[in-house]
Parts: sequence; structure tokens; C-alpha cells
Amino acid sequence: MKETFLIGQIIALASADGGCELRHRDDAGRPARELEPHADPEDAAALALYDDAGNYRPLKTAPNLRHGWRLALDGQEGLRLALELFYPARLGAWRVYQRGRLDTTPLRETLGRQTGMYRVTAKLTDEQADALVGRFCRSDGGCLRAIFWRRDRAGTVPSTRLPPEKFDPACDQTTGKTLAEDDVPLICQEACNLLVAEVRAVVKGERPAGE
Ligand code: SF4
Repeated sequence: MKETFLIGQIIALASADGGCELRHRDDAGRPARELEPHADPEDAAALALYDDAGNYRPLKTAPNLRHGWRLALDGQEGLRLALELFYPARLGAWRVYQRGRLDTTPLRETLGRQTGMYRVTAKLTDEQADALVGRFCRSDGGCLRAIFWRRDRAGTVPSTRLPPEKFDPACDQTTGKTLAEDDVPLICQEACNLLVAEVRAVVKGERPAGE
């Protein structure tokens, strides 16, 4: 089967019957008989739920997608649904970005609008932000999204501990190489709820900001 595009840890392969098959990209070259077969796009929800060790994956763009499956799809509708379940709202965000209409929110604004038990997150210091984002969002072990938001309205880089490639949608966050034209980068336009929850833990002294 021929590769058509990559998105996160998934590779889309063109099947002989004109359809498409999704696999973990590490499984691209494995014989089909070695992989658990699926043909319902909605199976993507279960495939995305746990990692190889059976641990729940709270962050769908974390680099811990389970291996050993193949998902055959026979139309664009099924492909879109499956990718939405693997990587929620990422195809849409990429399309909006390509049209030049993606809005991003600085971290300080995301934290400043928190209420209730998360209001305390506004107290995060710049030093803590630098260390925390560098630890939590890093592509090797944290998250495969390319970060588009800034720390504040002045345009401060979210973390000096992340390489420039972390902010580049042309970079494959899995390998560090340049993506091909049809590949779809996972982009992050605003700090996610998991990062906000981690900010709270850091501000409250429950966890160190960095490593
Ligand atoms: S804030 Fe964005 S880059 Fe960081 S972990 Fe959350 S989704 Fe990933």
C-alpha cells in the first residue's frame, strides 16, 4: 500500500480497492495479518483511548498512541470521522490555519479567564511558565502539537526550553523532519485544559514546574 499522508502518529495508506487504511506509523510496513483489523471509523474512539500498556490517554495528541491495529475506511466521510476521534478538532484547526483565519490565545489570557478552583493559575510566574511548558508540551514524551500561542500579548516565546521546531507547523514533531505537502500537522492554538490543570498543581506547590 502507498502512503498518502501522515497526521501525528498515524499514517494513511491507499488500499488497492481505492479505499484507505489507517495504522500507527510504526506499523506501516508490517504484514496486515499481524495487525488487529477494524473497519468501522467509530472504532477509532476505542483505539485512541489507551496506550500500549493499557493506560488511559487523557491527551489525544500525546505521543503514546497504541500499536498493532489497522482501520480500513472506504470513503472521505469515514476518514474524517476516524481522524476526528483520534485527534479531535485538529483537521478543522489546520484548515482554518491554511485559510489564514486561526485565532490564537496567549497563555496569560487563558489563565486570566479561569474561574473557581483554577483562578489561582493566574499566579504562575514567568519562570514557572518557561519550565512548565518546556516539560509538559515537549514533543518527546509530552505532546505532538506545534504550539502557535505565545506566553503573552507581547509575543514572548512560551518556553525557551523548547526547540524552534516546536513552533513550526512544517516540522514533523515525531521525527524532527520536514512534513510533506499532504501531511497534516497537529497544531495548538491555545493552552489545553490539561496544561491549565498542571499550572494549578505547580502554583499550589504540588508539583515542580520543570524537571
Ligand atoms: S498546551 Fe497544547 S502543546 Fe501543550 S500539552 Fe496542551 S495541547 Fe499539547
